[in-house]
Formats: sequence, C-alpha cells, structure tokens
Amino acid sequence: MREVCRRLPPGAVEDLPTGDTVVCRDSFDAALAAAGNALAAAREATPAMPTLAVCRPPGHHAEPSRGMGFCLINNVAVAGAWARRERGPILIADCDYHHGNGTQAWVERQLEAGTDGIGFISTHAYPAYPGTGAFGESHVEAGGFILDIPLTHQTDGETFVGVWQTLLSAAVRRLRPAVILVSAGFDFLAGDPIAGLPVGPPALPALFSLFAATAQEGKAALVFVLEGGYSLANMRAAGAALAKAFCVPTQPPPPPLLRQDQVRRMTEEAARWLARPA
Ligand SMILES: [Zn+2]
Repeated sequence: MREVCRRLPPGAVEDLPTGDTVVCRDSFDAALAAAGNALAAAREATPAMPTLAVCRPPGHHAEPSRGMGFCLINNVAVAGAWARRERGPILIADCDYHHGNGTQAWVERQLEAGTDGIGFISTHAYPAYPGTGAFGESHVEAGGFILDIPLTHQTDGETFVGVWQTLLSAAVRRLRPAVILVSAGFDFLAGDPIAGLPVGPPALPALFSLFAATAQEGKAALVFVLEGGYSLANMRAAGAALAKAFCVPTQPPPPPLLRQDQVRRMTEEAARWLARPA
C-alpha cells in the first residue's frame, strides 16, 4: 500500500487491488495518522476517563495483508494489540453497519497463535458488504471468542440496543477485559447515504450509557474508535450524544442563590434561638 501511494503523482488516484478503495499519494500517511490516533486513545483511556479517536480513514475492514472497504490500516487492531500487551484482556465491540471482517481476521490470528484474553463482538446488517459475518463464524473458546450477530435490514433501535444489552455484560463477565475498544461506526443510523438501519439517533444515549455502565461495572477503560458513518447530520448527533454521555458532569445542580430577605429572616431566627434560656 505504501508503494502504491508513493509512486502516485500529486493529484492522481488509484484503486487498491481489492477494487473498492481509492488511494492517493498521501493516503498511507493519513492511514498511519489514523492508526496512531487510535493507539493514543488506547494509551490515554482509564476506567475513569473514556477516550474517542476520530479516525479517517476508518479501519475495521482492513485485513492483516490488504486494505479494503475504505480502510487501509486496521486502527482498532493496532490499538487492541497494544492494549492486550500493556493492559490485559481486551474486548472489541463493533457496532458498525458492516461486518468488521478485518478486525475479526486479526482476532482469529491472535487466538490461533495462542494469545488469550481477546474477545470480538460484531453486529452488522446481513447480507451486506463485505458479505462475511454469518452467525456460523462465531466461536467461543477458553482464551477468547468471536461473536457475529447478523441483523435484518428491519432492525430498529430497540432491537439494536437490546442485542448489545444482552451480550455486552455477559462478555465482560466472561473475559474481564482491562480495555473495551468500541469500533464505533455510525453508518447503522437511519439516513446514512450508503448504509443505515431503521435506527434513529434517540437510540444513541441508550447505547452509550450501556457501554459506560458496563465498562464502569467491569472497571475497564473504554475507547471509542470511529469507523463508518457518512451522514454529517448523524455524525453530529452521535458526537453530541457521546459528549453528553461522558463529558457533561453529573453533579447535582447548585442550590439557588439567596435573596436578601431570606438572609434577614435566617439571621433573625438564629438570634431568637440565641435569646432562649440556655
Ligand atoms: Zn460501515
């Protein structure tokens, strides 16, 4: 990929051999920056502070030896490899509209090589690009698991959040991950120009609080890594919902300001108490 990009003259573009991903001279550098962004998000996240890596290009279709589906380097796999080595067990939760085939390929390779403590869950419309992700690809072993949950094209917000509600805490209880990496693709939202399930933005607060509560309960650091999402309005809604779920302090509101007459009344009342016989 680096060679393909380097030999392109400025302004020229070319398809990768996979045929569905266009690159230009600067694409390799952009992909490297996106992977570094995901890595930095994983390094900074703690159970008390979740992080978000806004990555372009996305990564979850990129397989160990080839880019595809707009993805050049698998950002979440790069972050996951670091987190598995430095932090402990990891769970990758992929909620993009499309199957995270590249991430799954990386997880398969890790499990085959005997690395334990890695779990992968993907919800995705099925059948849809890239064609993989049938339930039959799922397997749970002693060291980790791959769970593919294909969704019908009629899946609504309640069903979508319900699937995650059922699987997320069960996965956390089994794996005890130190880090939960969310492959956060927002192309599952209705209105996405190239994808989209009938899931409206109101499902987002429920989904994010589920991730927050599960991570908190399992004392895991939470890392969101952006994947797909091609409607700017939906991306704005997702960004706002994320900020609201994680950044807005949840302390109680301060007491109302006092008025002069209230202060006078309290002072007079205190003076009356002091005037009572001891
Ligand atoms: Zn996608």
